[in-house]
Amino acid sequence: MNEVAPANTDRAHWHGTENGYTNRGCHCQPCRDAHAGYTREKRNQPINPALCPSLLNYLRRCRCDGCRELHNRTRRESDARARNKAAGR
Ligand SMILES: [Zn+2]
Ligand SMILES: [Zn+2]
Repeated sequence: MNEVAPANTDRAHWHGTENGYTNRGCHCQPCRDAHAGYTREKRNQPINPALCPSLLNYLRRCRCDGCRELHNRTRRESDARARNKAAGR
């Protein structure tokens, strides 16, 4: 999983897109900006109860049991992943 581009090439076309941030895990400033904009846009849309439980609805401030539980579980899982990474696994 080494996606580091050689320093002498132009920035890959996916920089500054949500795809770059989420799918490629790039946290350079343009990618972070794109992600922030994307998140803000998503958050400003109305909650769609038909999608519950979903992280998208949680982002839109739905706090039904399903969305809260999904959010907590996702956060626990990413915490566990971070711990595993720190432990060198
Ligand atoms: Zn980037
Ligand atoms: Zn919900």
